[in-house]
Amino acid sequence: MAILDRLSLAGKTAVITGGARGIGLSVAHGLFEAGANLVLADIHAKNLERARGELAERGAQVLAVVTDVTQPDSVQNLFVQAQSTFGRIHVVFNNAGICNLEAAENVPYESWLQVMNVNLNGVFLVARQAGRIMIAQGQGGSIINTASMSASIVNEPQKQASYNASKAAVVHLTKSLAVEWAPHKIRVNCISPGYMGTELNYRLDQALLDYWISRTPLKRMGDPEELQGAVLYFASDASTFTTGSNLVIDGAFSCI
Ligand code: NDP
Repeated sequence: MAILDRLSLAGKTAVITGGARGIGLSVAHGLFEAGANLVLADIHAKNLERARGELAERGAQVLAVVTDVTQPDSVQNLFVQAQSTFGRIHVVFNNAGICNLEAAENVPYESWLQVMNVNLNGVFLVARQAGRIMIAQGQGGSIINTASMSASIVNEPQKQASYNASKAAVVHLTKSLAVEWAPHKIRVNCISPGYMGTELNYRLDQALLDYWISRTPLKRMGDPEELQGAVLYFASDASTFTTGSNLVIDGAFSCI
């Protein structure tokens, strides 16, 4: 099959967590353009509805399910609704995440747990449910987790040990699931973005963003659209021998 045909997601269904804005929403647009039916999941009901409307206006077949990825019942409900609307699930972009900036010596334990719960336990719960379904479907599938360059570098001057630790765990969880589920032809990969232009960062001081930009060889932040191609590659049949990979997309930030 020709390479552009292998990149097509026509007739396939993709579940996207953290899909109400930022990276999740941008990737949803990309997967729609590649032909996928979409299931958007997010905890923020209002933004989720806005995102659903935005995609539906472009002609996407899109289901939105308010979901808290830290709650097993909520994750189960997401996939029940996804299957009853679209049938087979082919792709899961496991992307919801949060970041709390706190010095390690001061971080309240609740805040540490919240970051671990969303970024690691939530990614696990979504992957577990996707894996169960894909194993039962018997035709493989592709799970793409969102890690971060923070999995392998320590950001500064901001302090974010919980985030860094959670993302390092996502990379190794990705590799572990890739090996466990290889016999089922379920591929599991992750992307590790650098500093991207999303609400997660725009709430911070411009001086901090300017410092990050000055330390990035490409001298700018990334646009979430610049992650679409990577996720599509992992999601599609263009990457059938690719599993357990971590693709760093950071404008070379972590090279220096
Ligand atoms: P955003 O904050 O813009 O979007 C994340 C979305 O996830 C929000 O809609 C948020 O809702 C939602 N969310 C939060 N908690 C939960 C939950 N428990 N269940 C379901 N949804 C939830 O972030 P980005 O788009 O920037 O980031 C997406 C992913 O990319 C995250 O995993 C992040 O760590 C990672 N990443 C981001 C980078 C960046 O520079 N932006 C760099 C590297 C990685 P709400 O608004 O209510 O919080």
